Amino acid sequence: MKLATIGVGNAGSKIIDRMLEFEQETGRNLCRHVLVINSARTDLAKPDYVPEDRRVLIGDTHQKAKGHGVGGDVEVGAEVAKHDIDEIRRAFDDVEIHEVDAILVAAGLGGGTGSGAGPVVIDELQKMYDEPVYGLGILPGEYEGGRPALNAARSLQSFVTKVDNFIAFDNDAWRSRGQTIEEGYEEMNRELAVRIVTLLAAGEIDETEVAENAMDSSDIMRTLDTDGVSSIGYASTRIEQDGEGLLDRFREERDDPGEATDAAKIKGLVRRAVNSRLTLPCEISSADRALIVLSGPSELISRKGIESARQWLEDAADTVDILAGDDPRPNADELAAVVLLSNVTETPRIKEIQSQAVDAQDKIEELEAVREQEIEDLITDDDDKLDPVV
Ligand code: GDP
Repeated sequence: MKLATIGVGNAGSKIIDRMLEFEQETGRNLCRHVLVINSARTDLAKPDYVPEDRRVLIGDTHQKAKGHGVGGDVEVGAEVAKHDIDEIRRAFDDVEIHEVDAILVAAGLGGGTGSGAGPVVIDELQKMYDEPVYGLGILPGEYEGGRPALNAARSLQSFVTKVDNFIAFDNDAWRSRGQTIEEGYEEMNRELAVRIVTLLAAGEIDETEVAENAMDSSDIMRTLDTDGVSSIGYASTRIEQDGEGLLDRFREERDDPGEATDAAKIKGLVRRAVNSRLTLPCEISSADRALIVLSGPSELISRKGIESARQWLEDAADTVDILAGDDPRPNADELAAVVLLSNVTETPRIKEIQSQAVDAQDKIEELEAVREQEIEDLITDDDDKLDPVV
């Protein structure tokens, strides 16, 4: 697939930057256009792979932002994007949209810029272009507290209703112990970039390489065309080379490199992808559609293997709407299976965020009422004998 990628806010921009890094490292060609949008000048300086002229600062003349971000305020995030909508539009004008199949907008939903400006950006894209717009959204971890949960729960509603598909990543599920938050983010961003690029770059291959069961961008778009929330699973195995050419641990039993064994191993890899940590933990049987991509040297990916993996997922996910194919990468040092579960509806984490958000909203309202009363009590004399000057 050919993508125009747009990162909004700090996390959104970092994810896009990691996607560019991974595609460059692996010789893929997915992100044909890139843009990052932020209200904080310092965050805009962070990306390593996004060209300088593809970074847009919004809100620098807005009195609540002034180039320093929106302080986690989702309302201000939306306000500054609306205020600078002409500038955002001008940045879109440089995108040759007929060159791309779809547009991907990435954002962290727990902050102010990604969660507030993201939906405004998506509205504009939907107005301007016919191509599908996909969201890639990061859900905050429970440990971040009530405000990020409230931002995320509200922003999720906006994102999901506006995009053609919303691919979710749950920070809570991916948090590991013994790491600083920044170290954790680095690792998560990398993991997410590997999954999203492996999935969406399928089909963008050297045309001299003819693949029997090659995945096509229309297959990916069909699977994403559900308007719902999606999750991605991934597993890979290293390929080892020897003097005779490609050989791998995947075919460790050299005496029995038969098709049946290979097929079982492909199925095993796909099963591992689905049973591994998904970008959004969910009940896989709640998926509406699914797609399997096997990425690696084609001699390791048999038609029988793809078929048995598809059959297995059909039973496990309890849907017949499953597409499977390969993405030939002759020089890859890994064989990877990536599984897209589209329109999953049983995801406990989203319910948890909503409940944390409702508690936070109640508490905020309560505190606001108390605060007003406390200020009133503070500035008023006990018998209320004094009047203000003006
Ligand atoms: P914004 O710039 O106002 O949109 O705010 P940020 O993007 O800095 O943060 C928004 C949310 O994204 C946070 O609440 C975190 O949940 C998450 N987040 C921030 N940075 C990262 C990151 O590098 N990786 C991941 N996975 N999540 C992040």
